[in-house]
Amino acid sequence: MSENYSDAMLKQAVGTAHKEALKETAGENASYIPYLASVDSNLCGAAIVTADGRVFEAGDSRFEFAIESISKVFTLALVMDEVGAPAIRDKVGANPTGMPFNSVLALELAKGKPLSPLVNAGAIATASLVTGSDTEARWQRILDMQSAFAGRGISLSDEVNESEQTTNFHNRAIAWILYSAGTCYSDPLEALDIYTRQCSTLISAVDLATMGATLANHGVNPVTGKTVIKKENTQHILAEMMMEGLYTASGDFAYEVGLPGKSGVGGGILAVVPGKMAIAGFAPPLDPSGNSIRGQAAVRSVATQLNLNLFAQ
Ligand code: GLN
Repeated sequence: MSENYSDAMLKQAVGTAHKEALKETAGENASYIPYLASVDSNLCGAAIVTADGRVFEAGDSRFEFAIESISKVFTLALVMDEVGAPAIRDKVGANPTGMPFNSVLALELAKGKPLSPLVNAGAIATASLVTGSDTEARWQRILDMQSAFAGRGISLSDEVNESEQTTNFHNRAIAWILYSAGTCYSDPLEALDIYTRQCSTLISAVDLATMGATLANHGVNPVTGKTVIKKENTQHILAEMMMEGLYTASGDFAYEVGLPGKSGVGGGILAVVPGKMAIAGFAPPLDPSGNSIRGQAAVRSVATQLNLNLFAQ
């Protein structure tokens, strides 16, 4: 239970994690999306939000960065609530791909089944399952879900969206491969448009930790007190995060940190401790898998200090 962690302990943990993160100097900003290359590489923030709604933060914890792939978790949550976990597993999958997040090869090898909703192919397929009367209604539902998780109104960055929409040629290919395999459930370019928008919203490390704390608190946002998703789905979402949340480094993260996590090429990273808290880190320089190096260090530091590894005995 999160009450077991005192304010003093958590404040100290997030401060130390931020200092530990700053010691890491490797990595580079993502460059394949022009906007991301332009973000200040020195920014670094960390936050913890507990399952009883307490907030602790250090560094650039209020700087708003592009959510990118972390958005996949919240669109998955939206669709899972609507169609149920078995349908997601059947239509999209529940296994790691072992390949980069935008791999066409992984999709080809699985005959067009994305395997995971947390790689690009699976997230585009998931976005194609969002229901609504038209494109804008479907997009609004995704945005509302991100906002409910964060406990405040999240907005699209027109600048990030423009940067992505005009350079997402590889993702367009993925959308068409899905469509040809029968695993894109709406117009493929519309699904891609919505997916690209969902990656282009701005969040801070505090927002991200609040979003994670909603998963840690069985689908109820602990800051607003509002029920965001069905309790029974959180375990499946966390399982997907454990298997594929950090792409080709997911196994390493499970081995070292032992928590379900999710990263984005905007430099954000989230880890969830079920029933207890969520930890968020943010810093733009990435490792070769596309995960924030300082962000991982911050999360790892908090997990070690507070002994949060789910597999530790
Ligand atoms: N918008 C990015 C893309 O589709 C998200 C990737 C990521 O964060 N790993 O390529």
